Amino acid sequence: MSKDNLIFPICPVKAAPAHVDALTINWHVTEACNYRCQYCYAKWTEHPCPRELFQELERSQQLLTELFRYFQPTNTSNPLCDALSWRTLRLNLAGGEPSILGERLLDITRAARQIGFEVSLISNASKLASDVIKQLAPQLTCLGISLDSAHSETNLAIGRVERSGRQLSLNELTANLDFARQINPALKIKLNTVVNALNVDEDLSGLITRVRPERWKVLRMLPVVDDTLAVTDEAFAAFVERHSAFQSIQCVEDNSDMCESYLMVDPYGRFFQNQPAGVGGYLYSQSILSIGAAAAFSEMRFSPVGFSSRYVTAAGEAS
Ligand code: SF4
Repeated sequence: MSKDNLIFPICPVKAAPAHVDALTINWHVTEACNYRCQYCYAKWTEHPCPRELFQELERSQQLLTELFRYFQPTNTSNPLCDALSWRTLRLNLAGGEPSILGERLLDITRAARQIGFEVSLISNASKLASDVIKQLAPQLTCLGISLDSAHSETNLAIGRVERSGRQLSLNELTANLDFARQINPALKIKLNTVVNALNVDEDLSGLITRVRPERWKVLRMLPVVDDTLAVTDEAFAAFVERHSAFQSIQCVEDNSDMCESYLMVDPYGRFFQNQPAGVGGYLYSQSILSIGAAAAFSEMRFSPVGFSSRYVTAAGEAS
């Protein structure tokens, strides 16, 4: 990334770099998902090749090696270091739904660990049965689960349902998460909730109390692909206020907080970013494997300030 692409606050005095514990790279390994959420923004266009990268383990390893080489904390030639410092590098596997990759997800997780990443996963949990948890949990520092509602009808209306009609059982989920905690006591459980027109009036307190996440990310639906379920400023604020009892674990992200504050790689191995508000869709770099991480990252805009401001818990935990 060139320094021209870093977005700094307007300030005549050069500030010390913000520090985060882990720099997180989100690799959206696949677009495929067994749910059909109306607001889903896991839709990547202009495919540069027919196959997603995860299908070739060797190329996946090459991608991860290149990302690690460029973003490891000791690489001071990365201009991001002028604005941000970090202790470790975390690969967050996202989708689509990564768990539908089955064994390949485990292969990628192990490869990432061997290369030097900490690894986390964000999943809709529909395929995280106990046998999968048993293999995955020891490899992860954080397991993120996306949950929007405690009500079957609301989940159905959002599209959080498999083709067969099967929905996530909260009893099974809590049992599986307890199992995950048992085999990896250091594992952090995170919940992601997308606040949208169908759940904005709901009280999720009971759900949060049952799942006991260490962190709860409350994301305002981002109208990247579709704005049908968008919520007003007032309704979003009311949702946050209704759950103020969970303030200590909450990380609230309005639409503007999400722009240019994530490091994201798409299923084809390109960096991507949200277009500015109102434009919609994504901006892509060229393939990281073709031109290298430094050159590909230099094509993107990224806000270190926006990124580090998402790390505001007392423990300085990564989101
Ligand atoms: S679970 Fe996630 S990836 Fe799947 S459709 Fe819903 S938002 Fe998209």
